Amino acid sequence: MATQAEFEHPRKAFGWAARDTSGVLSPFNFSRRETRENDVAFKVLYCGVCHSDIHMLKNEWGFSLYPLVPGHEIIGIVTEVGSKVNKFKVGDKVGVGCMVGSCRKNTCRNCNDALENYCPQMILTYGVKDTDGTITYGGYSDLMVADENFVVRIPQGFPLDAAAPLLCAGITVYSPLRYYGLDKPGLHVGVVGLGGLGHMAVKFAKAFGVKVTVISTSPEKKDEAIQLLGADHFLISRDHDQMQAATGSFDGIIDTVSAFHPLLPLVSLLKCHGKLVMVGAPEKPLELPVFPLIMGRKTVAGSTIGGMKETQEMIDFAAKHNVKPEIEVIPIDYINTALERLLKADVKYRFVIDIGNTLKPST
Ligand code: NAP
Ligand code: ZN
Repeated sequence: MATQAEFEHPRKAFGWAARDTSGVLSPFNFSRRETRENDVAFKVLYCGVCHSDIHMLKNEWGFSLYPLVPGHEIIGIVTEVGSKVNKFKVGDKVGVGCMVGSCRKNTCRNCNDALENYCPQMILTYGVKDTDGTITYGGYSDLMVADENFVVRIPQGFPLDAAAPLLCAGITVYSPLRYYGLDKPGLHVGVVGLGGLGHMAVKFAKAFGVKVTVISTSPEKKDEAIQLLGADHFLISRDHDQMQAATGSFDGIIDTVSAFHPLLPLVSLLKCHGKLVMVGAPEKPLELPVFPLIMGRKTVAGSTIGGMKETQEMIDFAAKHNVKPEIEVIPIDYINTALERLLKADVKYRFVIDIGNTLKPST
């Protein structure tokens, strides 16, 4: 049956959507806007699968709009540009991450500081209201249309499938490592949760010359963490003795865990003045143990993605320093299984959907 989504815009589009909080995805006909003067239109080739897609699909954060087409690690090739676009041309390899808009007004301090990600009017790539009142649809779909200010360039030679996870997982860990000063050789940084974000945190931290310890619930990830990803050490977070022995030895920790977990063992790992930076976004509040914080003048902080300037900087840094996501490329009809595996932490280390070769329009 035809839906409103098919006719609200002039351009036919096709993807996979969830219709309700069951979070199960199935084929979906919808539409995209025309290419406005500042827009870039592109054919989607690859899209990464982020744990946020699961939170959003199941409405765990409470603001999802349906039908919901997820996907905010989107890579493609430009097919059309608006009359005022000067940064991109047809044929360019580009990406769109977690946001497709912000107020961009002179009066907005965050937009002025190239921190569109902290603009109160930031528009997420999918599952929310756009400025014209329609719902934004993400990259589990055949084509994208986005304002050029929210599009990044993929450097020549960077594999397009492996580039996808940079758009969310990459920038989400790169930005706090930089901002909180955890990018200095000689520092000791912990990475909690070795999934999509976590493995990128290990790779960027190593590229900065930092000593890295992975803190994980999965002992079977140890060998790869060290041999493949380049981590220096591996701690099992549920092993009390191991955690005890590492007390007070970390300058900073990036916490990427997607579910409820205790913070006390992590705060205890920090040195005096150490920083615990939360980037994982569990649906329920975590418990903050205050006493060990005040006894060490420690910081607990947060961070979300990064501004567009920093996102381009991160991609260029990744290309220059050979920081490449580890991916499992999947066809679109595997997506529901991939989401189940992601929930079981069974991922090495990011699923990327081969949209270009496997997404076929329904008749
Ligand atoms: P992911 O690939 O599923 O990785 C999460 C990892 O957390 C798992 O691999 C697992 O690692 C660990 N974990 C899972 N459940 C756990 C539990 N109950 N207790 C302890 N550890 C657990 O997810 P992701 O895509 O990296 O995303 C991680 C989180 O970041 C999600 O909540 C996502 O929504 C959020 N996120 C935030 C931003 C932002 O802007 N701040 C951006 C993107 C994503 P081990 O097997 O090593 O324990
Ligand atoms: Zn994401």
